[in-house]
Amino acid sequence: MKITPGLQRELIFLSSGSLVLLVLGSIMDARLELLSAGLIFYMFWTLYNLNRLLSWLVKPSKNTPETLGIWDEAYYRLYHLYKRQRKARRKLSKILKRFQQSTQALPYATIVLNKAGEIEWFNPAASELFSLQLNQDLGQRIDNLIRQPEFAQYFSRREFGLPLEFQSYQQRILLNITRYGSGKYLLSARDITQRVKLDEMRNDFISNASHELRTPVTVMSGYVEMLRDMEFDLPEQQPEQQLEQQLEQPLEKIHQQIQRMEKIIAELIELAKLETSAVADKSQAVDMRKLIDEIRSEALLLDQQKHELDFPVETDSKHIEIYGEYNELRMAFSNLMSNAIRYTPENASIKFFVHTDEGGVNIGVKDQGRGISYEHIPRLTERFYRVDEGRSREKGGTGLGLAIVKQVLERHGASLFIESTPGEGSEFRCYFPAASE
Ligand code: ADP
Repeated sequence: MKITPGLQRELIFLSSGSLVLLVLGSIMDARLELLSAGLIFYMFWTLYNLNRLLSWLVKPSKNTPETLGIWDEAYYRLYHLYKRQRKARRKLSKILKRFQQSTQALPYATIVLNKAGEIEWFNPAASELFSLQLNQDLGQRIDNLIRQPEFAQYFSRREFGLPLEFQSYQQRILLNITRYGSGKYLLSARDITQRVKLDEMRNDFISNASHELRTPVTVMSGYVEMLRDMEFDLPEQQPEQQLEQQLEQPLEKIHQQIQRMEKIIAELIELAKLETSAVADKSQAVDMRKLIDEIRSEALLLDQQKHELDFPVETDSKHIEIYGEYNELRMAFSNLMSNAIRYTPENASIKFFVHTDEGGVNIGVKDQGRGISYEHIPRLTERFYRVDEGRSREKGGTGLGLAIVKQVLERHGASLFIESTPGEGSEFRCYFPAASE
């Protein structure tokens, strides 16, 4: 143990005091008596100071008791410790206050839950969104207060990887739960009614505009068809053949553009239709054999033997079971197949695969095409997003195919995974988790 300078000084003082008492004792011939009296005095002095220290520790203040020797040093050190602690406490309470002010001001409803799902703390936004009362709802289980069945299910599963969107009376709520600390939960939620309304308005607008455009485009298409087939009865000075030749090219171009517009309109209407209901009817199992057969025949027709097409044999698909709307799923898979055919150079191979793993069913398309650079991948399912617009147009693309695929999968509780290496090829995999069936 290290002897501190304070103790050293105290020991020197004690030994010199004892020496003085011994000398005085020798003169007075009462060495033992004087030494004992000195030690008893020192003991009482120590007890007195100990008592003062205890009283100070019970109620520490800026004013430390006036004393001498090692006690003075002990007070000096204790006082500094006390000052440091006070400063740290003040800093901490300032931080806490600021944190509380910011969480109070958060526009998102924030609720802290304990392991059992009981409310420990919530901010005013939570009190407003879920009508919580400070004096009666603290300590209550959250699923007794948010009583929507979707929430009860979500909370009881304790799987909070994805946010939950649900209807609570007139409001649409988006809610997230995060685990933190030792088994606590942080719930944050916000009212997205307005956003959903705007989305609905946007979808209604697109759907109405597409429907409105469909009729004039169909009429135009009919007239262009008629003009293309028409035999011209012309005056002699303008030979028929010459005019036909002059008109042939523009008419062909108009015809192509009208076909493109018809395709875009049809796909926009399809997307709007898919967006009107969030979930697909999953009561029926999909006939996998029929689905693969149809996609194969369609692909063979579109491909015109330009690629090496590989389809699963019957035994591969025998144990595959997915549930949902046959026509939607067929449309999604054939979109993936037609993309692979359109964007893969001739003679390369394209594989349509189906397989199960412990978590669910995987269905998709793998090609040996030119691939897609990683920065485009997260945006591919956005409407009208194309890696190379010119190329997409040239191949008859609308930029809506993958948006439709994503929407169909979302309605089936499935996800789209895209992996691609430029120069090597791409894989578009639709994953149907077992739980969603
Ligand atoms: P498009 O009608 O333009 O094909 P999609 O939404 O189907 O629209 O696809 C978006 C874009 O993703 C395409 O324009 C293309 O650039 C890219 N893409 C899709 N599939 C493939 C693929 N198999 N290989 C390479 N690029 C692809």
